[in-house]
Amino acid sequence: MNIDRLSLRLETVASYIIKGMRLADIGSDHAYLPCYCVRKGISPSAIAGEVADGPLKAAKHQVAAAGLAEFIDVRKGDGLEVLQPSETDCVVIAGMGGALISDILERGKDKLREVERLILQPNVGAIHVRKWLMNNGRRLSAEEILEEDGKIYEILVADFGDPLSTYGDLNAGLLLGPYLMEEKSHEFRRKWEQEVKQWENIVNGLEKAAKSDENLAKKQELLNKIVMVKEALE
Ligand code: SAM
Repeated sequence: MNIDRLSLRLETVASYIIKGMRLADIGSDHAYLPCYCVRKGISPSAIAGEVADGPLKAAKHQVAAAGLAEFIDVRKGDGLEVLQPSETDCVVIAGMGGALISDILERGKDKLREVERLILQPNVGAIHVRKWLMNNGRRLSAEEILEEDGKIYEILVADFGDPLSTYGDLNAGLLLGPYLMEEKSHEFRRKWEQEVKQWENIVNGLEKAAKSDENLAKKQELLNKIVMVKEALE
């Protein structure tokens, strides 16, 4: 991967940034995405936010080496604290767990009041991100699922709008994704067949374990999820 050729995952993220949108990439690591978007003319300017010193240094180096320092501001900070209100149109948070992404969104939601589009790519736990969007007036506009280097990734795109309008069965939709459930792609099937197998193994383990209230509740929760996912895969 380099700033002219992104991974399929980041290229798919970039495809949802509307031309002209000022970008903020939170957890930018090497700043590949902002460099790509500015160089391709997708974004006129970008902010690359990073909390860790190593990736921050890599991002600064990348931006300078590409001659893009005039257009891309690399800022050190935790989550959305690097942003001023109204200086960005599109926030990307990619390559982290869903719980961390939703925590970053929650702690920085004051900065999002004027941000038109959120593009979120949880590596795991997309349900946390969908729940945050639903509770914060964001409508899912699109979802993608793709496989790269043997890993399956989900990408969620959200704009302002009625959060409930995209959901049929809310519980299944929050877990599986309303658009992904509808599409039932090969990658979607693979992901959830793998999850069901893991849950079934845990259920088998719990059947042999002590019959505590906690174990019984955990087993029931997993059985409910197994039924829900199997129905969605039919
Ligand atoms: N976004 C890039 C991508 O998708 O390829 C990099 C993903 S990398 C696995 C996650 C990056 O997020 C790391 O560089 C990490 O330091 C950064 N990060 C984690 N928590 C953060 C936070 N609260 N604020 C800013 N950056 C964070």
